[in-house]
Amino acid sequence: MTSLEIALLVLAVMLLGYFLGRVTAPDPVVPPPPSPLVDAPAPAVPDGPRADLLHIESLNGPVLILRGTLVEAANSAARSLLGSRVVGSDIRLTVRHPALLDAVDQVMADGASDEREITGLGSGGLAGGNRSFRLRALADGAGRCIVLLDDVTQAKATERMRVDFVANASHELRTPLATLTGFIETLQGPAAEDEPARQRFLTIMAQEADRMRRLIDDLMSLSRIELDKFIRPTQPLGLAGIAAEVARTLAMRLDADQRRLVIEEPADLSPVIADRDQVLQVLHNLVSNALKYGRSGTPIAVALANSGDMVQISVRDIGEGIAPEHLPRLTERFYRVDSQRSRTMGGTGLGLAIVKHIVERHRGRLEIDSRQGEGTEVRFSLPKAP
Ligand code: ADP
Repeated sequence: MTSLEIALLVLAVMLLGYFLGRVTAPDPVVPPPPSPLVDAPAPAVPDGPRADLLHIESLNGPVLILRGTLVEAANSAARSLLGSRVVGSDIRLTVRHPALLDAVDQVMADGASDEREITGLGSGGLAGGNRSFRLRALADGAGRCIVLLDDVTQAKATERMRVDFVANASHELRTPLATLTGFIETLQGPAAEDEPARQRFLTIMAQEADRMRRLIDDLMSLSRIELDKFIRPTQPLGLAGIAAEVARTLAMRLDADQRRLVIEEPADLSPVIADRDQVLQVLHNLVSNALKYGRSGTPIAVALANSGDMVQISVRDIGEGIAPEHLPRLTERFYRVDSQRSRTMGGTGLGLAIVKHIVERHRGRLEIDSRQGEGTEVRFSLPKAP
């Protein structure tokens, strides 16, 4: 909720406080004051329904209006968070949240506003148990306190992921950088005149620099894909020959491990709506994984097939496979089953995260099946062009 909305809400409630003060003044012809409970149908005052209740009902986040510790009104978000019995009750008895009670006490005592973050609201079976809220409590100038709750659970989770991501990426870059620095010092000092050592160290340094380059390339890809995340591709794309193109790019690595790509591609394969470069990148990452983690000398099967309103593409290898407990986490950034093995094979830990983001952007599906001791199959689907 913006500050403008809050200001408008406070203004509306203050005006209404003034207005209600007038309509509830002793006057035999004026009807009794309307009930503050929003559970009941909104009662009408001479100029129409209660404006404050309509206002708080139109707000997405939970809002409570209290007089002392009595909850005069709660919008539907607040009722579904705290239970509908909260309206008309003493907040000390129904909500029992020390930080919330403290904030209300403060506002009622000195009329100032209070802002804090709270967790554990609505625990005990209600929806908010493990959610975090930013609470703002304000006085309305008419002896009431307005409590606004902003659910910040998702924002906090995203922030935590961002912090973890930066820490992981820095760690991944620091390791090869430390190796490079170490070798540079050795070459400047003890190994300055040792030609065979120089050659050996330079080879390792080139490998480490290459590892940093791959990591930076993958990080850049990931951020580009995330930027386009909500923009769906619009162009139709024929997939014939796309797997063969990946086989050509990876030909040297396939040959070096005596592997070959067995491609199954029906003649009537439907075109899809997809970004060609991104489909190539998905296939490249999946075949690359089959190469890294599959058994030397075994074939890698790539199959394309029409499947309802989608085209399904699968990459299957013969190898050690992946234990079931790892499967749900494989598409997380930097998640690896065996970090050492991944690094030795030139992995960055970002390949499947990139695959997942690309498939999501295409509104496709991604599935990973694996049997330990047998091998792994990764399938993804892309929507057919109409
Ligand atoms: P990496 O760069 O480490 O290969 P990925 O995101 O591509 O990163 O894969 C994450 C992890 O998933 C890998 O480190 C590996 O442990 C596992 N993995 C991925 N593909 C396969 C596969 N075909 N067979 C066995 N394990 C795999």
